[in-house]
This record gives sequence, structure tokens and C-alpha cells, in this order.
Amino acid sequence: MRRFICIVSSLTLILNLVQAQDNNLNNDSSGTVFHWPDGKKMALSLSFDDARYSQVDKGIPLLNRYHVSGTFYVSPGAMIERVKDWENAVGAGHEIGNHTLVHPCSGNFPWARDKALEEYTLEKMAKELDSASVLIHEVLGIWPSAFAYSCGQTFVGRGVDTKSYVPLVVERFETGRNWMNEGPNDPVYCDLARLNGTELDGKSFQEALQLIKETRNQGAWLIFAGHEMNEGGQQTSLLPTIDSICRYASDPSNGIWIDNVTNIGKYVREMRESPDHTPMKP
Ligand SMILES: [Zn+2]
Repeated sequence: MRRFICIVSSLTLILNLVQAQDNNLNNDSSGTVFHWPDGKKMALSLSFDDARYSQVDKGIPLLNRYHVSGTFYVSPGAMIERVKDWENAVGAGHEIGNHTLVHPCSGNFPWARDKALEEYTLEKMAKELDSASVLIHEVLGIWPSAFAYSCGQTFVGRGVDTKSYVPLVVERFETGRNWMNEGPNDPVYCDLARLNGTELDGKSFQEALQLIKETRNQGAWLIFAGHEMNEGGQQTSLLPTIDSICRYASDPSNGIWIDNVTNIGKYVREMRESPDHTPMKP
């Protein structure tokens, strides 16, 4: 009998713990008010990496037609081959972000073996981030405040010596964007130094629209991330998809604030620090 009472009280304890966790989750996910500006229901950013030529040749002229400001995380080596075009992009209101200097990634990619994050130290990464910003400043006259992790990887070293370089990003930039993440960013909770980036490459407009609608239902911030901006091919965000996204997001009845990563990130930061941003009373 004593054993039976013991089991029952253990089960009651477990049930209470599970219930307490559920309550916490409810509070976290819906207990805080967050308003996007002008009554918008969600935020959307279009971001593209590596300074691919198709971005300045085809993608940026398309965004310009809709007056949509994108965020371009440039690889300086490719950028300096098209300086005039990138100057024009800045002039048209696009954001230029830092994407490291030589695009280090895990050496598990054979092409990255000579610039493997496993062989990096934090000191080496800090110097690389600063060198890339200085180069962007020298060429385009602006200091980047947005950063995208090359290959979406946020570490240096390997095994027990692995270290996160996210703190280096926090010291230098307003935001850091990841790659190939599931889901949009919750403006109440997301870490601005590790923002989710959702792959746009290869998606049809219908696939993109599904993600946009899910984001709007959550009142969240979707950051699309892509590479080439063209009609087709590897790692390519399709021009017809981008065109349809811009048209859809430009229709005020769809309730979308479309802007670059820094503008939306700044708003999120300011709203969190605002006294009006208080937990919702049930
Ligand atoms: Zn990249």
C-alpha cells in the first residue's frame, strides 16, 4: 500500500511539472504584445549572399522596380569586380552586409578545406570580420551593420575546443543571419545575432506564399535568403518568384512590412526596449 501511494504521488508530481511547463510555453508564445508599424501584420526581408553577378545584373533592377530594399551580404572578392554596380545598389537604397572575407565553412565541404572553420581561432575570425568591413567601407563608403554567417555556421574549432563566434558578431553588428533555418523569427524572443534565414532558392511563388501566410498568422518576421537571382540554375532564387513576392508585399491589403534586415532589426530592438512593450494581461 505504501508503495502504491509512493507511485501515485510521483505521478502527481510529474503531472504538475508538465502542466507548469505548458503554462510557461503559453506565456512565452502569446503573452507579450508586439506591434509592427502602421498596423502591419508581419515583416519580410529579402536577403542574398556572396555578391553573385546575377544580383547586380538582374535581381537588383527587379527589386528597384518595386522600391524594395534588399540586404546583400557580399563576398568582397566578387564585389570589387563590379564596384560601379554595387555603388548603384547602395544609391538605390539597398543594404550591404558583411559575409566574412574569404567565406570560411566547415572543412567537411571539400572546397572549404583550405579555409576550414575547424582550423580557425576566435582571434583569426575577429580579424577577418574587421578586414571585410574595412574593405566594404573603402570601396562603398559604408560600414555594414548586418552580418550573415558563411554557410550559416557559427563556430570555430572542433570537438571540445569548439567555440561560438556569435559574441564577435554581437560586438560588431546589429544583426547576424543564419541559413536554411525552419520558420520565421519571433520578434518577441528571437536572438538578433542569430536570426533565422529561410531558403528562397528554387522556390515557386506558391511555396514562398505559404511561408509568408504562416508568418503572418504568427505576426513574425520572415527573412528569405538566396544566392543567384535568375531564371533558373543551381542556388538560384527565381526572378518570377521574387517579382510575385514584391508585388504581393507591396499591396497594402496584405499587411506586410517589407524592408531590409537592419531597418526591421532596429525596429524590433527599439520595440523591445520601449516601455509600451509589456506583457499582455489575460
Ligand atoms: Zn555565402
